[in-house]
Amino acid sequence: MDTPKIADPRMHTAEHILSGTMIRVYNCPRPFTTHLEKKKSKVDFVFSRGLTDDELHDLEERVNAVIRQDHHVYEELLDRAVAATQYDLARLPDSAGERVRIIHVGDYDACPCSGTHVRTTKEIGTLHIISASFEDGALRIRFKLSDPATTAASSRT
Ligand SMILES: [Zn+2]
Repeated sequence: MDTPKIADPRMHTAEHILSGTMIRVYNCPRPFTTHLEKKKSKVDFVFSRGLTDDELHDLEERVNAVIRQDHHVYEELLDRAVAATQYDLARLPDSAGERVRIIHVGDYDACPCSGTHVRTTKEIGTLHIISASFEDGALRIRFKLSDPATTAASSRT
């Protein structure tokens, strides 16, 4: 697997919200690969087409609206059999054991994950989509974050 050992908690939590938003808006599966780095990240979704600039802008706005709502990020431990009825566990390694960790971003998003996250979404700052591309049935979205402290000064409308 290409899952990083410990991704930056802000980037990683932003990925949850971005993926949750893609699911809500476009009803696509969670990304099949993620490359989360502190400065820049990219996520790949199974998709049928590219997104327009307007759609990317809308996506960015939706993600930032969720971040600003300052959702509490918390974990829930479920028995694997119970979790399997509610979540896709395909990407979870067998070594995860009989108890499955579900990460909730408030009531906005929930998915199985063993990574490290921020405690509340305001810690993430602001998400900026750098670019997106579409090739061979995969939509790649590249994004970065600006610090919470500088968000107010550099807010984009
Ligand atoms: Zn996670």
